[in-house]
Amino acid sequence: MTNNLEITLSTSKKTKPQPDQLGFGKYFTDHMFIMDYATEQGWHSPRIVPYQPITLDPAAKVFHYGQTVFEGLKAYRTSDNRILLFRPGKNFERLNHSNNRLSIPPIDENFLLDALKKLVEVDQDWIPSAEGTSLYIRPFIISTEAALGVAPSHNYQFMIILSPVGSYYAEGIHPVKINVENHFVRAVPGGTGAAKTAGNYAAGLKAQEVASDRGYSQVLWLDGVERKYIEEVGSMNVFFKINGEVVTPVLNGSILDGITRNSVITLLKHWGVPVVERKLAIDELYNSYVNGTLEEAFGTGTAAVISPIGELFWDTHQMKINQGQTGELSKRVYDTLTGIQNGTVADPFGWVVEVKS
Ligand SMILES: *Cc1c(COP(=O)(O)O)cnc(C)c1O
Repeated sequence: MTNNLEITLSTSKKTKPQPDQLGFGKYFTDHMFIMDYATEQGWHSPRIVPYQPITLDPAAKVFHYGQTVFEGLKAYRTSDNRILLFRPGKNFERLNHSNNRLSIPPIDENFLLDALKKLVEVDQDWIPSAEGTSLYIRPFIISTEAALGVAPSHNYQFMIILSPVGSYYAEGIHPVKINVENHFVRAVPGGTGAAKTAGNYAAGLKAQEVASDRGYSQVLWLDGVERKYIEEVGSMNVFFKINGEVVTPVLNGSILDGITRNSVITLLKHWGVPVVERKLAIDELYNSYVNGTLEEAFGTGTAAVISPIGELFWDTHQMKINQGQTGELSKRVYDTLTGIQNGTVADPFGWVVEVKS
């Protein structure tokens, strides 16, 4: 199917930002990938074109009913100038899971990986090489049919855009302060929490705003029924080291199945570190803090990879974790995962996929 991928190169090249200006998701490369869907034709007309605005009918369903999904992954430039993707097949597998939940037709995952490799190759000069930098990849799908009836769209567009991003930790990996959210919830059983879809993020903004006003960088989400069991932190999965054992909330249908989460669990098992996926209540966590067995806490996701938690605020209780410092295990996981991603640490799991040599 790659054979019919049409490529139109841009005639002018944008000026690339300085490495220290990058930040996250502010700059976009010279090209993008687009493919269309229509009920009668299926997914068709895959093409790489100059990065450009898109034109949509104001009645396009995505604007009204949020039938849309996205993904997020990164390409890394190694010191010997190879280009690596981290477990990209997992992202396209998850895209199809999200599609299924949002009644969007599935896409051939192998074709998407080929198309992504081609796009990254076309814009390879945009992959920064400074330590901690990478090319963030955002695949997404929008429903484009111009019709206000509430029903799955008959037309979609799939796109991939690319953004060079800076080091998440300009001054080194450092812990963040987190507010445990007791009122708002992110997702409910039977809802869309396990899909990467826009509505989940829109619903989270209010709590994020409140936490931010109080000086916390993220929200710790509790379950949507009892507001008792820990689910995620911001848009990351979450891990706690309690009395020598690592605990992460079990995937229950309202938690997103993070690829970093899955990689951390695999890595810990490989090292022989005890790790368990189970329900974890916030009062159990608080008790472990009180009796001194809460040793480390961290979030996991593609953007930051590992984000250590230095403090949790729950109800009236302030819990300082590991004196607000990055824990030993958190650091080891961070160094190993980012090392595998950058090609400086051996990859015994076959996680990295080379774009071209
Ligand atoms: C994307 C995302 C994650 C992390 O997934 P990764 O595959 O590790 O990047 C976790 N939680 C939510 C809500 C997310 O959107």
